[in-house]
Amino acid sequence: MCVLLAFTIIVSRWWNIVWINGHYWGFVQWGGAAFGHRNRVDAFRWDVERNIVSGPLWWWFDYQPGTQTRSSCFIAPLWLPLAVIGLAVILAWRRDRRPPASHCRTCGYDLTGNVSGRCPECGQPI
Ligand SMILES: [Zn+2]
Repeated sequence: MCVLLAFTIIVSRWWNIVWINGHYWGFVQWGGAAFGHRNRVDAFRWDVERNIVSGPLWWWFDYQPGTQTRSSCFIAPLWLPLAVIGLAVILAWRRDRRPPASHCRTCGYDLTGNVSGRCPECGQPI
């Protein structure tokens, strides 16, 4: 998921994913995902298009009010879900790699039956 999101953020600089469903539409562009509502109704479709205009990456949330020719939309940055999922992955990975309770916290040496109060491998107090 993290790799997919990072790839999407980078590639969305040059390519868009656009979708329309009924009154709703959205796109992924410039590192952000936009969602909007419009009066026109269209059947569901989606497409990948080359960016016509280049713009700065969307680093934060934005709301663009509608105009005569354009419908309003809400934009969310994609680095946020990447950061949340990435943090969860890092925490889960660290937790998974933590040695069991009967092992040394510093070096992971198995301390079963150890009565000296010190790890014989690294010398850390238990
Ligand atoms: Zn140790």
